[in-house]
Amino acid sequence: MGAALTDIAGLDAQLIECRACPRLVEWREQVAREKRAAFRDETYWGRPVPGFGPPDAPVLIVGLAPAAHGANRTGRMFTGDRSGDFLYAALHAVGLASQPTATHICDGLELFGVRITSPVHCAPPANKPTPTERDNCRHWLDAELRILRPHLRSVIVLGGFGWQSLLPVLDDAGWAVPRPRPKFGHGAHVELRGPERPLHLFGCYHVSQQNTFTGRLTPAMLESVLSDAARAAGLIG
Ligand code: SF4
Repeated sequence: MGAALTDIAGLDAQLIECRACPRLVEWREQVAREKRAAFRDETYWGRPVPGFGPPDAPVLIVGLAPAAHGANRTGRMFTGDRSGDFLYAALHAVGLASQPTATHICDGLELFGVRITSPVHCAPPANKPTPTERDNCRHWLDAELRILRPHLRSVIVLGGFGWQSLLPVLDDAGWAVPRPRPKFGHGAHVELRGPERPLHLFGCYHVSQQNTFTGRLTPAMLESVLSDAARAAGLIG
């Protein structure tokens, strides 16, 4: 990485050039070349996908990694696939997004007080990054958290992978993560002491089709966690 990253635009500009994980670089580019039949006329992004949302957001959502034919195609987090349809519909329902759908990067979608990122920024085969790939990508999340920290009040983590990845990053960024470390669960809520103010950490099942198609995660469950996090951050009353 080059100069110290102190703003989101600079971070994103460097991130999208990253080629640190050979397996993921090969996969993201192969998917972008071969494409899914339904998208054969599109140009896939095929690069690291940066976070989406304002840099002064008091709420952060942390997922897992871009989907091969979703964010890896469109270049924006959770955009262009069923997981994103589920997430953005819920964000819109609780007043945190300008529209309930996310189809492509120029669709006009805006987030209000929310940023979305992931601990791994390139699409992995079978949606499963390795521990080495997670560790390679960690410095991007470290840098993003340090930029977001002055305004950040709440974090919603979608799934156990994101939870395990994020706790050490929060610890290093100055929030007091208890020992033993809090366990992931849907509805988990931990308040972490911080240098300036506390941070509310919420666990939520991931918006993967495995969870949403089976009813393990319903729109009402997701909207409830989003509302709790927005309320803890002072975004809604
Ligand atoms: S996963 Fe992260 S560290 Fe690995 S190539 Fe992509 S952006 Fe770079």
